[in-house]
Amino acid sequence: RQRTFAMVKPDAVHRLGEVIDVIQSRNFEVSQMKMVQLTRAQAGLFYREHEGRPFFEPLLDYVTSGPVVAMELITTNAVQRWRETLGPTDAELARREAPDTIRAKFGKDKQSNAAHGSDSDVAATREIEFFFPSSKVH
Ligand code: ATP
Repeated sequence: RQRTFAMVKPDAVHRLGEVIDVIQSRNFEVSQMKMVQLTRAQAGLFYREHEGRPFFEPLLDYVTSGPVVAMELITTNAVQRWRETLGPTDAELARREAPDTIRAKFGKDKQSNAAHGSDSDVAATREIEFFFPSSKVH
């Protein structure tokens, strides 16, 4: 069993129940969860690897446009399985190529794409610690 970090982004929080239905149907255990309004400084730290990219400032506008729901998910091979469950970054591409994914179902385009998932075990540890700083290693 492995853990990963998932974040329902502001555009999909109004469909949180449906997102959790998908999470549970794919046999992820939701082991920690909270809703938070990120400050711009917090969002900048969370996405610091993207600093300097053309979409960085719009990304900060987007992820601070309303509350997000942060989750720690646990299952076998959680990082890879959550990325597969999300689908491609671009929600329009996801609708064409991976219609049975979170981004296809709940996202809009390549920015407003409903949810985030850690891209590695190292990133998962960092992102879980960012949102749940007191959490212990499982
Ligand atoms: P995430 O890290 O949120 O799971 P990802 O790994 O699929 O998404 P990244 O390349 O890490 O995508 O980009 C982080 C986020 O920045 C994307 O999820 C999306 O919201 C936004 N983003 C990425 N590329 C673009 C782009 N070309 N134009 C606008 N927004 C983008």
